[in-house]
Amino acid sequence: MMTNSPHAESFPEIRDSVRRLCAAFPGPYWQAKDRDRTYPSDFVETLTRDGYLSVLIPEAYGGSGLGIGAATAILEEVHRSGCNGGAAHAQMYTMGTLLRHGSAEQKAQYLPRIAAGELRLQAFGVTEPGSGTDTTRIATFARRDGDDFIVNGQKIWISRAEYSDLLILLVRTTPREATVRSSDGMSVLIVDLKTAVGNGLTIRPIRTMLNHATTELFFDNLRVPAVNLIGAEGQGFRTILSGMNAERILIAAECIGDGKFFIDRAAAYARDRQVFGRAIGENQGIQFPIARAHVQLSAAALMVDRAAALYDAGEPCGTEANMAKMLASEASWYAADMCVQTHGGFGFAEEYDIERKFRETRLYQVAPISTNLILSHVATHALGLPKSF
Ligand SMILES: Cc1cc2nc3c(=O)[nH]c(=O)nc-3n(C[C@H](O)[C@H](O)[C@H](O)COP(=O)(O)OP(=O)(O)OC[C@H]3O[C@@H](n4cnc5c(N)ncnc54)[C@H](O)[C@@H]3O)c2cc1C
Repeated sequence: MMTNSPHAESFPEIRDSVRRLCAAFPGPYWQAKDRDRTYPSDFVETLTRDGYLSVLIPEAYGGSGLGIGAATAILEEVHRSGCNGGAAHAQMYTMGTLLRHGSAEQKAQYLPRIAAGELRLQAFGVTEPGSGTDTTRIATFARRDGDDFIVNGQKIWISRAEYSDLLILLVRTTPREATVRSSDGMSVLIVDLKTAVGNGLTIRPIRTMLNHATTELFFDNLRVPAVNLIGAEGQGFRTILSGMNAERILIAAECIGDGKFFIDRAAAYARDRQVFGRAIGENQGIQFPIARAHVQLSAAALMVDRAAALYDAGEPCGTEANMAKMLASEASWYAADMCVQTHGGFGFAEEYDIERKFRETRLYQVAPISTNLILSHVATHALGLPKSF
């Protein structure tokens, strides 16, 4: 029996077909990928073939032209089914940078091929070891040289770079010290990864506690054609910011899916598992944490819906997107912990998928933005408190 919530009513046909797609990728498929830290290429190819990764691309460019509400339904169902959208979700939000800020030529060049599944835009390069969350301190620098930029520097935690054809890359084009505002002087480049690797770009995988295909990037005089600049030079911070609300809403939807997965599994197990001559779910000590997880997740889901509705209406939604991501990531983490506890020893067994999902959902309190930074945003933007940095 699946958890009942008003949230599950939206986009029922899409949810249904995503669930059917995901049924072909059951637990053992993900367990094997997780064990070997291999990329789920066939899962991503199936999502691409069936058009799910191009739902946000306008119909004029070959996508389905749907809103973020539909995209949240897709990713929620992927995660609720026990699958992991982390291998593919970036295509949905990185594409927005190109769509909103790319020139007509750039959009015509890339978007139809992305929609057709011929080009993968799965990588997004912002974070650097020396900057952390303070993006204004990135040091990767692109110097203009004739018709090219020459890029030098380093990025860290750049996921899916080995499995993407294109990378949206944030660089400095003016040193921080030479700008009036620290967020000025950055620019966005679209990098053709296939020609870059071995010609100034080295990709080094990082093994982590979850199977996320994340990497370090080293730039050593990489030449990028100047026509690959997206948006205005020096305005790159604002160019990528507009995609970040979409990213937060979509990740929040994945957390809602994870939470439902944990609650479904815990409730089913609590109904079946007999200890001391009765189902463990008869004990309120087992029931209440499951019920609490459902309460928290349902509230978070409403905030995800609210943020998605504002986004689709073209309204400002930065605070709501942040709040949705924070609430959903905390609700899914509570549900994950509850699910392990409900399963006792079996919560640790690989074949139950719970320990894998537990590790996977933990990420979202740190990436793409950590909880403290969300609280800081809410404090200063929504409540008018003084800035601390
Ligand atoms: C698996 C994985 C995949 C990722 N994929 C990508 C990707 O594809 N592209 C990309 O660009 N990045 C990616 N990231 C990076 C991710 O966005 C960052 O890890 C995240 O934003 C946190 O930044 P940081 O690790 O630099 O932490 P830091 O900025 O070093 O912060 C460390 C801790 O200190 C806290 N902190 C920092 N400053 C303050 C403050 N002023 N007040 C209170 N607390 C503070 C933070 O909240 C955090 O908990 C990924 C990370 C991981 C782990």
